[in-house]
Amino acid sequence: MIKNMIDKERPLIDMKVFPDYETVREIINIFAQRYDFLSVTSIGETVLGKSIYMVDIGSHEAETEVFYVGSHHGTEWITTLVLLRFINEYCEYYKNSSVAFGINIRKLFQNRCIHIVPCLNADGVDIHLNGVDEKCVLYDRLIKMSNGDFSKWQSNARGVDLNHNYNAGFYEYKLLESTKGIEAGPTRYSGVAPESESEAGAVANYLRFNEKIKAVITLHSQGETIYYTSDGKCPDGSYAVAKQMELLTGYSLDEPKGLSSYGGLTDWYIKEIGKPSFTVECGLGENPLPLSDFYKIYSDLRRMLFSFPLLI
Ligand SMILES: [Zn+2]
Repeated sequence: MIKNMIDKERPLIDMKVFPDYETVREIINIFAQRYDFLSVTSIGETVLGKSIYMVDIGSHEAETEVFYVGSHHGTEWITTLVLLRFINEYCEYYKNSSVAFGINIRKLFQNRCIHIVPCLNADGVDIHLNGVDEKCVLYDRLIKMSNGDFSKWQSNARGVDLNHNYNAGFYEYKLLESTKGIEAGPTRYSGVAPESESEAGAVANYLRFNEKIKAVITLHSQGETIYYTSDGKCPDGSYAVAKQMELLTGYSLDEPKGLSSYGGLTDWYIKEIGKPSFTVECGLGENPLPLSDFYKIYSDLRRMLFSFPLLI
């Protein structure tokens, strides 16, 4: 099991840690104690009963809200670190009434609320990082699905790939799945029905019933790419925002192809809710990206994460 040492005294916490559930919880607790202007809630629970934490930064009177989510996939935990670091920096700027990236952070707080779920697939990240404990109720099933190798584990604890579990092209994907012999396991299995998994259901329900949220960013790894369409279409204004995101990050815009264009959060939000949604593929290389890539990835993304609520 991972045992990270977190230095609570540092204004900016060292994010070169593996973000398993206990570590994420500890960091969020530090933020909650330190920054009384933050709101920490949960939008639901994972299959194994972990809280799906959401941190809100910004006034609840703000007219416009946006939603950021990391770690749909087990090996992509570096995206959780990006969002935790963003929360940390934002709060320090707010405390010091700073202007950052040309943005008055106190005004940003007043006018925009950002809902952040740093780690959606907390079970999958833990399974990938720590393996599975014999006491886990799904132990036998997980060992069978993985042959005991969790080095490429993307799915949740039931072997469902959460980014294929949303209701967008779900049934078309089911046909493809059977021709390709995809079953419950480390990656790409969509589940028995849309939102059958508590994690995808929690996100979809939160977004479905929150009219003030105007746009979504989903962080994945890897590719240094931004996706902003579904079946070649996007809501009004999405392209202009995507172009700004391209400029702010140095990443390039692209369109999803093949299996990745079914059942994802971005597809569902664009098709069902009809508002802009963006998949940002962080970093370059092979998943899991090494911890040593974290600061480069964060420095490429930070301006965009601060500016995005103002582009909407
Ligand atoms: Zn992913």
